[in-house]
Amino acid sequence: AENVLSVERLKAYYFLENGLSVKAVDDVSFIINENDVLGIVGESGSGKSTLAIAISALAKPPLRVVDGKVLFKGIDILKLSNEELRRIRMEHVSLIPQFAMDALNPTITIKRLLRDALKSHIDSDEKIEEIMNSRVPERLSMIGLPKWVLDRYPFELSGGMRQRVSIMISTILDPDLLIADEPTSSLDVVTQRLVIQFLNELVESRRVKSMLFITHDIGVIAQLANKIGVMYAGKLIEVGNANDVLKEPLHPYTKALIMSIPKYGTNINKIRLKGLKGEPPSLVNPPKGCRFYDRCPYRMDICKEKEPPLVKVGSTTVTCWLFAKGDGQ
Ligand code: SF4
Ligand code: MG
Repeated sequence: AENVLSVERLKAYYFLENGLSVKAVDDVSFIINENDVLGIVGESGSGKSTLAIAISALAKPPLRVVDGKVLFKGIDILKLSNEELRRIRMEHVSLIPQFAMDALNPTITIKRLLRDALKSHIDSDEKIEEIMNSRVPERLSMIGLPKWVLDRYPFELSGGMRQRVSIMISTILDPDLLIADEPTSSLDVVTQRLVIQFLNELVESRRVKSMLFITHDIGVIAQLANKIGVMYAGKLIEVGNANDVLKEPLHPYTKALIMSIPKYGTNINKIRLKGLKGEPPSLVNPPKGCRFYDRCPYRMDICKEKEPPLVKVGSTTVTCWLFAKGDGQ
């Protein structure tokens, strides 16, 4: 399959006034190919949203990308001008930001919002009318919204409706890569299901070519993703085929996470990790070796001294000394 996104050794840090930095995304690499839906799971504060922002080329002070590449079909999007970025947004790379429902301009109707969004990306008025008249009603019904929402202002709609409106707008131009940051986390179960079905349908019909889906809900990942990545303390510690990671997690943190889930649909911020004590380390001054060291039941001396290497095991890439061969100890 054709490669869509290639993230190489990405580092995105928040720079504090006192001269210190929070290493929120620290040396993260992964790829997304056409037809891939990569679900990234992690606790609050593990760096998931920072990753979404950095990859979307939306880092603003105090956040800064300090190193690494974000290649979209071979083009480093971190090097593009604002004008070049504007041209690839929505149509090629589109972001559903966290709390999207609160980001809609409250002073104009949904119809105007949509038309304005289309106008900033499409030159032909004819094409815009065509989308407004055929694609928009189709997408509204796919996501379970009545047509009358078009004539309403955002404040006249419920949170769940506003969230679906933002998702509909973000996907209206069928992006090659959709980046969705917790698009379902504030929704009730019924609306959540509508949104997941909507996104699934866009991917299965190849209208959206690939997706990076961020969540703290492993149940949502199980329903949507064919690949899973796990973040811990700013690091992507494990990434692989969804079935493999769910059935045979390799990293001790992923193991604890998956063992501790009573059933699908569980917010991982609310579960107690079985057999694990302690908290993730501070990202201002992270340990020099493995960031999971303090909590790991399998830790070895080398784990404290040296950063664990990336090791390929089957479809999975795991960052842990347990899987390193001939290296280290
Ligand atoms: Fe545990 Fe060592 Fe693996 Fe880190 S590298 S997860 S401390 S075994
Ligand atoms: Mg977040």
